[in-house]
This record gives sequence, structure tokens and C-alpha cells, in this order.
Amino acid sequence: MSDKLLVIGETRDGSLRNVTFEAIAAAKKINADGEIVGVICGDDDLESQANEMIHFGADRVVTVKHDNLKTYTSEGYGQAVLAVMNEESPDGIVMGHTAIGKDLTPKLASKLEIGLISDATEIEADGDKVVFTRPIYSGKAFEKKIVTDDVTFATIRPNNIPALDRDESRTGDITAMDVDVTDIRTVIKEVIRKASEGVDLSEAKVIVSGGRGVKSADGFKPLHELADLLGGAVGASRGACDAEYCDYSLQIGQTGKVVTPDLYIACGISGAIQHLAGMSNSKVIVAINKDPEANIFNVADYGVVGDIFEVIPLLIEEIKKM
Ligand code: FAD
Repeated sequence: MSDKLLVIGETRDGSLRNVTFEAIAAAKKINADGEIVGVICGDDDLESQANEMIHFGADRVVTVKHDNLKTYTSEGYGQAVLAVMNEESPDGIVMGHTAIGKDLTPKLASKLEIGLISDATEIEADGDKVVFTRPIYSGKAFEKKIVTDDVTFATIRPNNIPALDRDESRTGDITAMDVDVTDIRTVIKEVIRKASEGVDLSEAKVIVSGGRGVKSADGFKPLHELADLLGGAVGASRGACDAEYCDYSLQIGQTGKVVTPDLYIACGISGAIQHLAGMSNSKVIVAINKDPEANIFNVADYGVVGDIFEVIPLLIEEIKKM
């Protein structure tokens, strides 16, 4: 990867997701002197988002506006990004390892027969090489990869590569590109959200997660209160989801979301290997469990052996005093 890198921006409710800014920082790590070109697709005015990418380090931005790009579809975004790639001939493409990144990048990489390094958690320059670190075996080991292809895609795991400081004085060109994305088989007409989703789980800096030990849907209420106080999100084990205490969209683990918050508070979770696969790379892990032998204590930085229904209210009380 060398001279020109595209960073594909991702929006949620009209605002850029933080992982977009982290992807710009990742592109800078790949080549500090290269040109970083942001790409934003949508159906609305994309200028403010383009400017935001520039404030976070992009040199210039290409926008693609079309009615069929209001909501992500792999065909629509695939066609738009492909058109930008044909125009710009980049040396590399970086985006978040999100649901969209996981769908779009392998599709384009296979179509173009070029490489893909997915789920990178660290990027370092080593002489003239760039070394990507990525977790393997459900986070039990890390592998290091060096790019040998001319053009490569890379996706980065949210919350691992810090974004650059926002600098409002940064300026750059914004170019609107016309791409005809009418020839697609799937168009999303409407998105119906279940409820107010609050902080996005995959980008949350703090996650309060509940397991079967929470015992009921009502038992999750103190976890929500604690998460709100800490500006975080609520997650869950599959045990809690299977027991219908909460929605499967909260599930963390091998078959759920993979998260790396600064703080993960596991409440009434035993620490099954499939759960650890989704959270063991969190920066600080706090476990609350009444069983001192629970496996979760093997990965926890801080452990509280106790009943969550006693410990969580105490925590809430203390935090409220701060
Ligand atoms: P349990 O194992 O039942 O643990 C409950 C814990 O709560 C216990 O340790 C108990 O001591 C504690 N507890 C009980 N009451 C209290 C209390 N009042 N105060 C404090 N502690 C208390 N699991 C996932 O989480 N994510 C996945 O993505 C996932 N994918 C899977 C994929 C496959 C193919 C398979 C086979 C399994 C998968 N699982 C996954 C399920 C996993 O194996 C476990 O069954 C599940 O994680 C257990 O959830 P749990 O820890 O909430 O429940």
C-alpha cells in the first residue's frame, strides 16, 4: 500500500460513525505522506460529512449522491465505490470492520481479485513495510501480516486505532461524482428500528453486559442505569438472549458482536469460550459473579465475587456521588 488511499466513510442517522475517523488515522499509519481521499455515499447533502472527514485528516473527499444510496445495500454501495476506485486508481482502501465493512470489502476484493486484510487492530510501519496485526482463533492469538499486492483492502476493528484530533482549520476539495446506481436488485424502502438504540454497541467505550445471572428482562434495568451513568451501552451473553431477557442484537461473542471497549463490565456471565471470543480483547474487564470459580475471572482485570443485585446498586450509588 502506498501513495493514494481511499477511506470509505460510514454514516448512521446522517452522522459519520467514529470508526470512519479511526480509518483515516489507520490510512495515515499505512502511509503518512500519501494522499487520503475520503468517499461518502448517500442520498442527501453530503458536504458537511465530507468536511468532517477533512477535519479528521482526509486530504479531499469524493461524494456520491443517489436516491438508491440512502441505505446501505451491497450492490448500490458496491457500484458507487467501484466507480470511485476506477476514477481514482487507489493503492489501498480502508474502512471499518463493521457490518457494512465486512459485507462490502470481501465482495469488492473478490470481484477485483485483490487482497484484503480484515479486522486489523494495529498498524505499524517497519522500514518500507507496513505490518498489520489482527486477532485469530477467536482472539486467542494475533497474527502479523505484510501486504505484498499492489492494491489491498483493509478493515480496522472499531475502538483500536485512535482517531486523529479534529482540526476545523483543515480544508480540502470536495468533488461530487455522478454514478448511476439504478440497476440494482435490492432497494431498502424503509428501516424500522426496534427501539431507541442509544450508544452503538460496537463503538461503545463502556459496555455493561448481562448474562443468565441477571435472571429476567427486569433484571437488566439496573444494567441500563449503570451503562447510562457511564455513557456506555448494554450488551449480553447468548445465555441471556436465549432466555429472552433481552434482544439478540445485544449478543456479544463468537456468534454475536465482537467488541473492544475501554471498559467491559460482565454481570452474571460465566465466561464461556464463545462469549470470551467477543470481548476478551477489551482494555479493562470487570467481572461480577457470585461463583469464585467462574471462568470469567480468568480474563478479568478486576473481579467482584458477589451478587449482582447487591453489587450493581452499590456501584450506581457510588458513581452518582462522583
Ligand atoms: P451461564 O453459563 O448460565 O452463567 C451464568 C453465570 O451467572 C454463572 O457463572 C453464575 O455463577 C452467575 N450468577 C447467577 N446468579 C448470579 C447473581 N445473582 N450474581 C452474580 N452472578 C450470578 N455465548 C455467548 O455469550 N455469545 C456467543 O456468541 C455464543 N455463541 C455460541 C456459539 C455456539 C456454536 C455455541 C455452542 C454456544 C455459544 N454461546 C455463546 C453459548 C455459550 O456456550 C454459553 O452457553 C453462554 O455464553 C452462557 O451464558 P451465561 O454466561 O450468561 O450463562
